[in-house]
Amino acid sequence: CGIVGYVGTRPALDVVVEGLARLEYRGYDSAGVAVLADGGSDERELVTAKRAGKLVNLRNALDETPPPAGTLGMGHTRWATHGAPNDRNAHPHLDCSGKVAVIHNGIIENFAALRAELEENGHKLVSDTDTEAVAHLLEDELRGGGTLADAMRRVCGRLEGAFTLVAVHTGDPDLVVGARRNSPLVVGVGDGENFLASDVAAFIAHTRDAIELGQDQVVELRASGVTVTDFEGRPAEVKEYHVDWDVSA
Ligand code: GLU
Repeated sequence: CGIVGYVGTRPALDVVVEGLARLEYRGYDSAGVAVLADGGSDERELVTAKRAGKLVNLRNALDETPPPAGTLGMGHTRWATHGAPNDRNAHPHLDCSGKVAVIHNGIIENFAALRAELEENGHKLVSDTDTEAVAHLLEDELRGGGTLADAMRRVCGRLEGAFTLVAVHTGDPDLVVGARRNSPLVVGVGDGENFLASDVAAFIAHTRDAIELGQDQVVELRASGVTVTDFEGRPAEVKEYHVDWDVSA
């Protein structure tokens, strides 16, 4: 239901949880976050936390077990369509290796066929959601080479339905990837930091410069900049606009 992504210099967890709070008015049944831990190595630790119920349940869990500091993260508030609203089905969802995390708004119509194919190929799925299949599809695509954005473009070509997807990967520690079809995704353009959200309300406190992602587009979000392509990888024209209205949340 609500999506927030961040990469920059601030503690990502704070930006993401605050963003989720600004999207609470939309209604939801669970909430979760993923943070890539800061570190010297190329491959960083990916930490997730998720809880059914109100955001306060997630906040309490994060207070009890604080994740390591990190400047890249994403968060989700879920409105369950596939699978009961419980901790397990809350987003983010991980691949088998725990290196890829995915959050999703919408419905993947062909998830049953995708899931069956994945399970036949040895993937173990642990939730009842349509979303989890995407994490495993990304895992397979990444094994074939290329960046997380390349993998996302290839996976999106196989999906039917309505989706806003945001993914992170331990092997690309400065990269948040977003994609959309029939479901909104907006980029917030900052100075040395960038934001992704399902609604500008999530980042309006930080920047009012925004880019609305077009239909069937993928965005690569780094602290240094933003690149948008279509699902085939062709560069897309982006129109930046200024949000000058008041957003009350
Ligand atoms: N279909 C997904 C699920 O049930 C996403 C729902 C949403 O948009 O929050 O987990």
